[in-house]
Amino acid sequence: MSTSNIRKLAFLVLFLVLAGFASAEFKDLRYFKEKVVVSDAFTEKRMLSEWLTSLKGTWGDTPVYFYDSGKPGATVLIYGGAHPYEPAGTIAVYVIMENLQLTNGRFILVPRADMSASTEGILGNAYPQYLHIPTSWGQQKYRIGDRETALIDQWPDPFTYVHYPSKQNLAYQDLRNFNRTFPGRPDGTLTERMSYAFMELIRNEKIDLVIDFHEASLMYPVVDTYVTHQRAEDVAMMAAMMCQIEMPMKCEVSPKGLRGLTHREIGDYSDALCVLIETAEPFIDRVVGRVTEQLMIDGKDEFLERASEKGLLYTSYDISDAPTIDHRVARLLTASLELIKMYDQFYPDKAVEFWYPRFTDVKTNGLGSYLHDPASADPSRVFEN
Ligand SMILES: [Zn+2]
Repeated sequence: MSTSNIRKLAFLVLFLVLAGFASAEFKDLRYFKEKVVVSDAFTEKRMLSEWLTSLKGTWGDTPVYFYDSGKPGATVLIYGGAHPYEPAGTIAVYVIMENLQLTNGRFILVPRADMSASTEGILGNAYPQYLHIPTSWGQQKYRIGDRETALIDQWPDPFTYVHYPSKQNLAYQDLRNFNRTFPGRPDGTLTERMSYAFMELIRNEKIDLVIDFHEASLMYPVVDTYVTHQRAEDVAMMAAMMCQIEMPMKCEVSPKGLRGLTHREIGDYSDALCVLIETAEPFIDRVVGRVTEQLMIDGKDEFLERASEKGLLYTSYDISDAPTIDHRVARLLTASLELIKMYDQFYPDKAVEFWYPRFTDVKTNGLGSYLHDPASADPSRVFEN
């Protein structure tokens, strides 16, 4: 064998070894299951495919958790994980699932709205795969996924994404973006079918209020904000004022010309009120330094601080008091609580009596104190996602 062939063979072997390590990591993330210990108010677990059977057996199917008091009151749907690289949304839903106390009304909770997107990282971004939340009993581990449905589950992307049914042209990758494919269609792509199944869940279960948890980059104008359908504007505006006691909160109304978004289409294609909540995530801005699990947890980044000094951010940022994961989850909890409480004031005949921790609780006691040990819990209360 010539020297050049030996060199080629050596590179091939090296490539295969590296690919072997990488594929083991990809597989680990794809099949890792998150654990949640549901509170006493939990009644039933169902699957999204119940509302669109073609999702059965696909990575677009996801667990839907019912908390039904059996007494009259509004039905509230809260979901996280529309964009899994914004993990505070999913963790906030887990905190509600683990701690919800319910006297009347009904909660439907979905921690992983786009399951597929949570099973791979962002291509080319070298993001960490997991984050770990410290608790008194050890660490709770969660996935950090992608923004869009995984390419392995929906491929290829079109040159232009033509939104259904508005025919508006959107960026090609948004055909895999759960928050651009509403109201969806039953015979569309996987992501369109997931959105359609959510619409069917909302219409069939007669949901009154839909709350969609997100995190946003600090250089994006819609940060620390409610984005509301116009039918929920009064509720969201008043809730934003109530939030100020604990934290600053803005409110914007969903633009009528921008299609595919939950706060636009759920409001237009169902009777539910829909509000999306964004909290500042110092992890996904382009200007940040090393994107590590530490940054995801503590939110401290010197480049963001410099951007803040130059007035380039849409929210205040102080590296000595940066938005930690505890802080971001806490924000989503109070923002959703105030929305539901304000809904009760506007619709007193549908009032929901409930409790889950709010901003001050999580800031005082730590996020970990609201997560329970799956190993010592009653196995019938432990679920995997
Ligand atoms: Zn998002």
